[in-house]
Amino acid sequence: MDLLKELKSMPMTLDLLQSTRIGMSVNALRKQSTDEEVIALAKSLIKSWKKLLDASEEKSEEKKKNLSLPTSSSKETGNSRDQSSNKRQEPPKTPTTPKITTFPPAPITCDAVRNKCREMLTSALQADDDYIAIGADCEHIAAQIEECIYQDIKNTDMKYKNRVRSRISNLKDSKNPELKKNVLCGAITPEQIAVMTSEEMASNELKEIRKAMTKEAIREHQMAKTGGTQTDLFTCGKCKKKNCTYTQVQTRSSDEPMTTFVVCNECGNRWKFC
Ligand SMILES: [Zn+2]
Repeated sequence: MDLLKELKSMPMTLDLLQSTRIGMSVNALRKQSTDEEVIALAKSLIKSWKKLLDASEEKSEEKKKNLSLPTSSSKETGNSRDQSSNKRQEPPKTPTTPKITTFPPAPITCDAVRNKCREMLTSALQADDDYIAIGADCEHIAAQIEECIYQDIKNTDMKYKNRVRSRISNLKDSKNPELKKNVLCGAITPEQIAVMTSEEMASNELKEIRKAMTKEAIREHQMAKTGGTQTDLFTCGKCKKKNCTYTQVQTRSSDEPMTTFVVCNECGNRWKFC
């Protein structure tokens, strides 16, 4: 009751309804509750919010026709018994906040898989408050990204799903908040992020780790190729034990001496012996 009263005292906006889906929560509470008082207050809240939505729908009747995406996925997640809640779940896509960049509307799709992917991309973009500060229309951007991926792959097979999935995990990467911000403000366009490699999306920090790992992998590969010889000739600088494997690699031209790589079998310490 306290929470409902608090909600009633809050100024509600379409944006808030869209981003929080609080209408869904309150409606669920209304259906589950046996407390008359709770049901009555929940009903009046939903009614007042619905007015907000209706007013905005009337205003943007024309735009809505062009911009809104049918959410066929609501069939999966929605409740067919409750038409009114489904309706509230799909507010018009008309931007209500000033936007930095605008994109052309994404073609509407009735494909359930594609709509689900658009939904998941939307929630990845909405992961924190960045989109509010930037004033980005996440659903619109998500639809654009999905559209570009679909146009690139031309179907919704594994390749398509993996592509969508990798965008989402990179957008959600807490070590890389810059990626999401760049997408939200349009510095990285939907066309770009749709085709970026994981390396391109990754943060600088991750880039450094990847580079080091690649170097290590090359050395590992060279070791494996030549087998390596176990020896007690070398003393490990770290653990002071004499259980090492060494391998010689021709790193420069063939008339120069070979480089000897040593790895300690005890602690994994590696060094180059010259
Ligand atoms: Zn060692």
